[in-house]
Amino acid sequence: MTRAVIALGANLGDRGSTLRAAAAAVAALPGVRPVASSREVESVALTLDGLDTTKPRYRNGVVVVETDLEPQQLLDALHGIEDEHGRTREVRWGDRTLDLDVIAVDDRRIDTATLTVPHPRAHERAFVLAPWADADPEAVLPGHGSVTTLLQALGDDTERVDEPRLFEAAEPESTP
Ligand code: AMP
Repeated sequence: MTRAVIALGANLGDRGSTLRAAAAAVAALPGVRPVASSREVESVALTLDGLDTTKPRYRNGVVVVETDLEPQQLLDALHGIEDEHGRTREVRWGDRTLDLDVIAVDDRRIDTATLTVPHPRAHERAFVLAPWADADPEAVLPGHGSVTTLLQALGDDTERVDEPRLFEAAEPESTP
């Protein structure tokens, strides 16, 4: 089993509903067990040219899961969930109803044509770090250190949304 951190983002449609439906879909994947999730944050759209206040704002969140899927299998499954939510991929960095990224998988380093883990830009994105620290205050981004410390150094430009966590953590297994 590995522990995987997945970032969710949406800036089109009913963003909160999409994030909650996607988090539930991730938690329900075969070979995946939900561990923890964040509340939602709002952030200004980030494009290739930088922050763009004319674009619809993003809602972002993070879920932490345990899984026996290989990271590429997990990414493939996440793409399936993106597709179910109408994601089209014409424009890289464009507006999207749902974006799912694999941020970290234990302390594994992966660099293939289709998957880089840890996510190479996670350490500079408050919209990843803030919900990740909310889901898991002790989290460490491999190669960069404590997520809470990284967020403090970067400055948190996200706004917390007053909604419940994306999902409730699984009950600990009861002892007989
Ligand atoms: P995007 O349009 O930003 O969602 O980028 C999606 C592309 O990034 C996909 O084709 C993935 O294969 C690739 N990719 C590489 N590393 C990652 C990662 N850690 N998480 C999600 N997508 C990744």
